[in-house]
Amino acid sequence: MHIAVVGSGYVGLVTGACLSDFGMDVTCVDKDEKKIAMLQRGEVPIYEPGLDGLIAKNAKAGRLRFTTNVAEAVERALAIFIAVGTPPREDGSADLSYVIEVAETIAAHLNGYKVVVTKSTVPIGTGQLIEQIIREKSGGRFPFSVVSNPEFLREGSAIEDFMRPDRVVIGARDPQAIAIMKDIYAPLYLIETPFVITNVESAELIKYASNAFLATKITFINEVAILCEKLGADVHHVAKGMGLDRRIGPKFLHPGPGYGGSCFPKDTRALTDIARQAGYRFGIVETVVEVNEKIKARMVDKIRTACGGSVSGLTVGVLGLAFKPETDDMRESPAIPIVTALVKEGARVRAFDPAAMDNAKEVLPATVEYCQDAYDAATGAHCLVIITEWNQFRSLDLERLKGLLARPLVVDLRNVYEPDKMREAGFAYECVGRAAAN
Ligand code: NAD
Repeated sequence: MHIAVVGSGYVGLVTGACLSDFGMDVTCVDKDEKKIAMLQRGEVPIYEPGLDGLIAKNAKAGRLRFTTNVAEAVERALAIFIAVGTPPREDGSADLSYVIEVAETIAAHLNGYKVVVTKSTVPIGTGQLIEQIIREKSGGRFPFSVVSNPEFLREGSAIEDFMRPDRVVIGARDPQAIAIMKDIYAPLYLIETPFVITNVESAELIKYASNAFLATKITFINEVAILCEKLGADVHHVAKGMGLDRRIGPKFLHPGPGYGGSCFPKDTRALTDIARQAGYRFGIVETVVEVNEKIKARMVDKIRTACGGSVSGLTVGVLGLAFKPETDDMRESPAIPIVTALVKEGARVRAFDPAAMDNAKEVLPATVEYCQDAYDAATGAHCLVIITEWNQFRSLDLERLKGLLARPLVVDLRNVYEPDKMREAGFAYECVGRAAAN
């Protein structure tokens, strides 16, 4: 089966590579000529573990190609996956202009029955909008079906998530389109992945409701962490005690500097906007959005307090800038407001991230200095802040670190280290939600 994937970013590339690995004939399209030229040369424009190997393997086998020629890809394909961005507008609503642009292009090149699959996260009702655009712009010359197939992959483990998802959600009206989607995902059907087959609107809402729920869970434990600090409890023990209840579950109960990334912040805001448009104020999610901002600001307070009330004139070493480990994605990373505030308050910031420094340069203040490794970032620093829990930051040589720092102070916003061990090693140590450490 020929498949076109329009939009070759994190989701489009992973979708294209994985579907070609399932044996499909896939063309990945992007309007970014530089990105496509890189891919055609065998280079992968993003950092995602395993993606380069999977792309190389399937490109070599002739099942995966890259082009800017959307017309050719659409004409050739039976199924067209839309995987373009849906970034937030100023007011928090999702910007659908890229999705609409793609729908118009598909309409212009329709040459037979096609299944148009929305993988991008889109507001409820977008499936209908896409259907209307294609019907009107193509003059109703060819039949087509619109399907919602939201994506749940996580950057950093995207291939595993795509190949072994918890579920596949398919929203469609047309039985023929559902059958084609089941064919495409046959390898997942065989490993007994649960399929949720529903209407387009429900599928679209499943994605937002899932992300908003996860953001709520993270924010909940972040607030529990604040209580722990105030009341003498340890958030790790509280989270364990909560998570063993199967109705709650252990995942997403790890405290940190607030959620970030390309999805949770924009999808929570978009859902509150979707709800308001529907005449309802989604109170819980609105509060989560608000509290998450406070959590991020609180991290700056924590660093300032640990530094004795001011960071002005001090050097702060920062470990990790990406919004999570194993990605180069800086979108809405908590590192952005934290580092920006430190610089604004007069700190000299020396930062290191294993993959995200190129992207960080675009969004962090120009005065931030980028380092070779963790030890380089620590050199001469009055405070070392861990913002992203890359594995390589988990077992640093503490003696060496202490020797390099101007002051043995570590603020660990991901609770990577054990407070007792850090104290035994001679550090002043601050972390999140572990009162004993404070
Ligand atoms: P991205 O910004 O990495 O990639 C989008 C790509 O689309 C870009 O390369 C851009 O050049 C391209 N594009 C835009 N308009 C185009 C057009 N008209 N024709 C061809 N290409 C075009 O975005 P992403 O992170 O892959 O996210 C894509 C969608 O998937 C979003 O709706 C997002 O919410 C959703 N999603 C993302 C993730 C994630 O972890 N990144 C997970 C699940 C769902």
